[in-house]
Amino acid sequence: MIEAQKQVPVAHLGGGLAPVGAEIAVLTHFVDGAGWKGTGTEAQPVFNPATGQPIAQALSGTPADVAQAVAAAKEAFPGWRQRTPKDRADVLLRAAAVLESHAEELAHLESVNTGKPIPLARDDVAGTIDTLQFMAGAIRTQLSLSAGEYVTGRTSMIVREPVGVVAAITPWNYPLLTAAWKIGPILAAGNTCVMKPSEQTPLTSLRMAELLAEVLPAGVLNVVTGTGSVVGEALATHPDVALVSVTGSVRSGQAVASAAATMLKRVHLELGGKAPVMVFADADLDAVVEGIRLAGFGNSGQDCGAACRVLVEQSVHDELLKRLVPVVESLAVGDPAAGDHIEMGPLVSKAHRDSVLGFLDRAVAEGARVATGGRAPEGDGYFVLPTVLVDLPDGAEATREEIFGPVVTVETFTAEDGAVEAANGTAYGLSASVWTEDARRAADLPGRLDFGTVWVNDHLAFATEMPWGGFKSSGYGRDLSVYALDDYSRTKHVMFNRARSDGETEQA
Ligand code: NAD
Repeated sequence: MIEAQKQVPVAHLGGGLAPVGAEIAVLTHFVDGAGWKGTGTEAQPVFNPATGQPIAQALSGTPADVAQAVAAAKEAFPGWRQRTPKDRADVLLRAAAVLESHAEELAHLESVNTGKPIPLARDDVAGTIDTLQFMAGAIRTQLSLSAGEYVTGRTSMIVREPVGVVAAITPWNYPLLTAAWKIGPILAAGNTCVMKPSEQTPLTSLRMAELLAEVLPAGVLNVVTGTGSVVGEALATHPDVALVSVTGSVRSGQAVASAAATMLKRVHLELGGKAPVMVFADADLDAVVEGIRLAGFGNSGQDCGAACRVLVEQSVHDELLKRLVPVVESLAVGDPAAGDHIEMGPLVSKAHRDSVLGFLDRAVAEGARVATGGRAPEGDGYFVLPTVLVDLPDGAEATREEIFGPVVTVETFTAEDGAVEAANGTAYGLSASVWTEDARRAADLPGRLDFGTVWVNDHLAFATEMPWGGFKSSGYGRDLSVYALDDYSRTKHVMFNRARSDGETEQA
């Protein structure tokens, strides 16, 4: 049971660094332009995964809390949608400026709650700001088919409209950035939003909502904290929520899509991935190693697009490993609070660390060899050493399932067709990379790969102007780019009958 006097807005945390042993603050929901205590009586701790210490508590939201937030968003909708694109763009640009003026605070809050290194958290904040700025510009350039006569005497025109109240459900690996990838296009397109951050990482979403209250009308952006099975489910089934957008695991995407299907509600799903890194014998191996260092182990491998599954041409397998292993072993692993030199932090939670260690145990039991890492280091926090697994049997679990940790598997191939078949041979279809100096192969292979993004001689590079999203079990719907604006809009055909009362049509 929580005591009301302990409930505070996130600003109280002063960067999230609650001293160990101090009374742990309970953070409020953010509804209708202000912090709100909600209707529930429970809260759950929020941890710093680098130390295992609690740093705050977040309210365990209830269906009644969701109803209140949806009502606020519904009430705010008519006023927000009526604004011109320029007006909404002005607000979003001001929102970006507010976040920019709190960039360091947000980066530290994100780092302490997720365990990600400070430089990476700074990149996330920069991406958040850029997303709002891009969507502000993009909404002013939206065009559609020109009005025209497709039936005699009638003029047709296309109207793009917001869908209404959109629920945004976000994961713990990029809490602020995935929130921005949703609220940027959602708000730009004229919708209002109720967001549910991961129960493990609500701090930056709550702080962002607090900060943006300075520029957003009340009710346009609301945040309810709590679990997926209660708050997420209540959002997915609420009759006044028009669309549910989820970034998370396949299982959560399936749960939301099934719940939403009972009302034929639209869903937007950004789910898991298992990205192949296809390395041909003619590739620049030093560039490959650098790509894997950044994209395989950045954010401790907790990235839906992580470069986690290397498929290397047999003839350069040994050379690649010879170069890769020392680089992986040189990664600076530690508590991000130690300084900007830390390159890899902990995993997000004890449960997730144990899940990753379970994958490693089973991989070894299946016959894999640990080239480096393969275990948790001594000490506090939820760390796993950066790991490279080799000699994996065909179809090994570690090569098919999303481990979501600092684990890169290395398999070999001898022919291009076999490499393509292996790359496409998982349930996921989010992203892949091809490493080759052969121009024909570089141009041809992306078309043969079932992934929403294919990089050539790169991995995990993003452009706000370009769409991000998957095929197959990785979901549907696109983040970023003008495609996201489309996803959060609906298309209406308006037809004008120009026939006069005497039955004649107006002549040109
Ligand atoms: P998760 O699925 O456990 O949780 C994601 C969100 O969904 C959380 O807010 C959670 O509370 C909510 N949720 C869970 N069950 C729900 C339900 N039944 N109804 C409604 N909401 C529910 O995922 P996670 O562990 O937070 O994040 C890791 C996963 O997210 C990985 O699979 C990763 O690949 C994926 N991810 C994908 C992308 C992408 O762009 N495709 C980006 C980041 C993360």
